[in-house]
Amino acid sequence: MTVLLSVRDLRVEFDTSGGVVTAVDGASFEVAAGETVALLGESGSGKSVTAQAVMGIVPKPAGRIAGGSITYDGRDLLTPGAAKGLRGREIAMVFQDPLSSLNPVFRVGAQIGEMFRRHRGASRRDARAAALELMKRVGIPAASKRLDDYPHQFSGGMRQRVMIAMALALSPRLLIADEPTTALDVTVQAQIMDLLARLQAEEGMSLVLITHDLGVVADVADRVVLMYAGRVVETGPIREVYEHSGHPYTAGLMGSVPVLDGPRDRLTPIQGSPPDLLSLPTGCSFHPRCQYADDLCTTDQPNLRPLPTRPPQHQTACHHPEGVLTDAP
Ligand code: ADP
Ligand code: MG
Repeated sequence: MTVLLSVRDLRVEFDTSGGVVTAVDGASFEVAAGETVALLGESGSGKSVTAQAVMGIVPKPAGRIAGGSITYDGRDLLTPGAAKGLRGREIAMVFQDPLSSLNPVFRVGAQIGEMFRRHRGASRRDARAAALELMKRVGIPAASKRLDDYPHQFSGGMRQRVMIAMALALSPRLLIADEPTTALDVTVQAQIMDLLARLQAEEGMSLVLITHDLGVVADVADRVVLMYAGRVVETGPIREVYEHSGHPYTAGLMGSVPVLDGPRDRLTPIQGSPPDLLSLPTGCSFHPRCQYADDLCTTDQPNLRPLPTRPPQHQTACHHPEGVLTDAP
């Protein structure tokens, strides 16, 4: 397995009126070449901020990368200048809301074509032809007729296809999609996920799918990285983690959606709500919501480690994974 992206002990802070918020608190994970990784967690768990750190778009001046490292293809992305030319080219990103990322006053074909003009020095005519090819590839019907439409003339799903086309224009080796289907209805969600999976396979690129909804990624992801309160709490091959969750948070998330082999009964969906990052619980941040929590959990923050009875790639940051594993059906 060739590691393409490596995030180590990443820490991202924001100055807020209430104080300093640590949105990402020591997160580590890797993405191999050609692999699809789901970055999964409840809203507010630090998924988007992690992606922002990789893309170099942590909002300034409130936000900053306060620690850790991010390397891409062996190059340190956090050294100023080192990432030049990588982001946007080799590493591309698709966001939840395509309308806010597209320019409302430019025709769709021209916006896609602009990628080729700006980065490849293509002529207007070649750029237009390349844009048309991409629009076909991402499944936009009657693409030649739609080249000169404006973004508002496209449906939500078609706009997301346009965004994906723009992200693919420069043949990235890594595509990060942040809640790419969250704004879409269920049928369209599945179509966009199928498209991303197909393009991933065709391009052999790495894909990071960020979502709060396991259901939409379960069939396409190879591995899953679960985040809670800015930390990675569980990671491993998706089926392994799904079938043998070692963290009660994971078990709760997995139990609340019918996926993979159909509906199943498991632990009840997670009680309570995500923590206030300005006043995090002591010890394990999840302990106030956890039925297994004891004194150790309230005082000591667990680190990721392999589960004794599971494959070593499966790691959990929990003091009592045996309890979770045993209670699973
Ligand atoms: P999600 O997992 O839903 O993508 P985010 O990564 O967007 O969560 O955000 C995690 C937390 O980081 C938020 O709940 C918030 O407390 C904090 N945060 C994110 N962006 C900002 C910002 N621009 N300013 C201040 N705090 C922020
Ligand atoms: Mg987000």
